[in-house]
Amino acid sequence: MHLDNLYQEVILDHYKRPEYKGLGHDFQIAVHHVNPSCGDEITLHLRLDNNSLLQLTWDGVGCSISMASASVMAGLLNGKTIDQGQPILDAFLALMQSKGADAGDEEILDDAVAFSGVSKFPARIKCALLAWMAYKDAALQVQGISGARENV
Ligand code: ZN
Repeated sequence: MHLDNLYQEVILDHYKRPEYKGLGHDFQIAVHHVNPSCGDEITLHLRLDNNSLLQLTWDGVGCSISMASASVMAGLLNGKTIDQGQPILDAFLALMQSKGADAGDEEILDDAVAFSGVSKFPARIKCALLAWMAYKDAALQVQGISGARENV
């Protein structure tokens, strides 16, 4: 797999110095997702604080793409509301489905545009998507909890 050097560096940087790695003890939702084709695993802990801002921590083992993607995602989503996170999630999913045609909107995706080249390699797309699918799952569950609370 050949990626643009700059993007390769961004990915390796996040792999070596991951953001928000290490599971927080204070959480509402825990999800564990596995990417069997590569052996990547991720656990995500998520809660909403009083202002409904996301508090997201993760831990995992796997290839550099999967771990770097989790780090980038946590950096982008922490401190945002679920509504603010949605367009970021949508943009990343679209990027991964683009087969390399989409360079990604840096204003929305920031460091996550570094994964644009990965979308040309079907075997690695699941690596890049692992954390994001785990987040999607966790966000749905945490919304369910807060929805239930409002209805009381
Ligand atoms: Zn992988």
